[in-house]
Amino acid sequence: MPEDRLYTGVCVLADVMDKHTLADVTLELIGVSKQLINQHSGEKVSVLLTTGSGNISTLIKNISTAGADIIYLVQDEHLKDYSTELYTDVVCEVVNKKKPSIVLVGATTTGRDLAPRVAARLNTGLSADCTGLEINENGLLAATRPTFGGTLMATILCKTMPQMVTVRPKVFPLPKIDPSHIAKVEQLNIPLDLSHVRTKFLGWVQDCKQVGRRIDDADVIVAGGRGMKDAKHFKILEELAHVLGGAVGASRAAVDAGWRPHSEQVGQTGKTVRPRLYIACGISGSLQHLAGMNSSDIIIAINNDPDAPIFKVASYGIIGDLFEIVPALTTAIKENQLKVVV
Ligand code: FAD
Repeated sequence: MPEDRLYTGVCVLADVMDKHTLADVTLELIGVSKQLINQHSGEKVSVLLTTGSGNISTLIKNISTAGADIIYLVQDEHLKDYSTELYTDVVCEVVNKKKPSIVLVGATTTGRDLAPRVAARLNTGLSADCTGLEINENGLLAATRPTFGGTLMATILCKTMPQMVTVRPKVFPLPKIDPSHIAKVEQLNIPLDLSHVRTKFLGWVQDCKQVGRRIDDADVIVAGGRGMKDAKHFKILEELAHVLGGAVGASRAAVDAGWRPHSEQVGQTGKTVRPRLYIACGISGSLQHLAGMNSSDIIIAINNDPDAPIFKVASYGIIGDLFEIVPALTTAIKENQLKVVV
C-alpha cells in the first residue's frame, strides 16, 4: 500500500487559552473538518488536546459536543503553559502515530508559532492563513488563501502527508452543538524531553492599549479609517459602539497613523472578524481590509466618496460626511431609545 494511503482523517490541534478555555477557532475547525471528511469511508475528526494535569472535563465536553469523533489527550504538568519545543515534540509524536491526512491549526499566536515548526519537523508543507478549504477530485486538500498583498487568491495543494494548514479565527462559522454527542477519549503517554526547552513561560501581560471591548468576539464593530483624520475623532466611534454594545475597529491606515492599537486592526495583516453588524466609517474598502470583514452579516458603509469600493460589499451605504452622520446616529439611537437587534 502506498505510504500516503496510511494517512486518513483530519486532526485539529486544540488551542487552549488561559488553561481552561478553548479558543473558538478550535470549534470552528472541528465544524469545517466534519465537512471535509468522508464519513462513508470511515474517516474521523480527531482533536489533539495538550494540557497540564487537572480537571479538563469542560474542555472535553466542548470538543465532544462540537462533533469531534476522537480526542487524543496528552496531559502533563510541564504542558500547562505553551512551550514551542514540548508542544512540537508532542504534536509530531501524535501525528506520526495516528497519521491524520490533514492537520488543521488555528492561526492564533500559539498556532502560528507551532505549525511551521511541526511542518518542518514532519518534512511536509504548510499553507498559512487559509480562508477556504475543500477536498479536490483527487482527494487532496485544496487550501485557498490571499496572495500578492491580497490581490489574488491562490489555491494550494500539498502533496506530502500530512497536509497542514493554519486558518484564522472567524473564517468558518461555529458548528451546531450537539449536547448528546460524545467523543472517544484516548489518553496518550508521551515521554517529554525537558533538556532541550530553551524558553520559560513567565506570565501573561494584559494589552494596556486596549480601549473598551475587543473586536475578536464582538457582535457589533464600528470601524474607522483614514477618513477619521485624527486619533481624537475616534471618540465619536467609541460613543456609537457604546450605544450599540459593540467594539471599535480600525483600518491599517488608522493603525499605521498611530490612532488605534494594532489589536483593533481588521484585515489581511490584522484580524478576521465576523460580527453581525460592521459599520465602516471613512474606510475606502481595499481588498486587504475586505479580506478581514466581508463575511460580516450586515455591513453599513459611511463614506463621502460615492465610488468608494466599500459600497460594493455594503448591505447599506450612507454617502456623506461621517462627522455629521455618526453623531446623528448615536443621538437618534439614544434619544429614541432605539433598540438595535442584531
Ligand atoms: P483610505 O483608503 O485612504 O480611505 C479613506 C476613506 O475615507 C476614503 O474612501 C474617503 O472617501 C473617506 N473619507 C474621508 N473623509 C471622510 C469623511 N469626512 N466622511 C466620510 N468618509 C470620508 N489595510 C487594512 O485595513 N487592513 C489590513 O490588514 C491591511 N493589510 C495590508 C497588507 C498588505 C500586504 C498591504 C499591501 C496593504 C494592507 N492594507 C491593509 C492597506 C490597504 O491596502 C489600504 O491602504 C488601507 O486599508 C486603507 O485604509 P483606509 O480605507 O482607512 O484609507
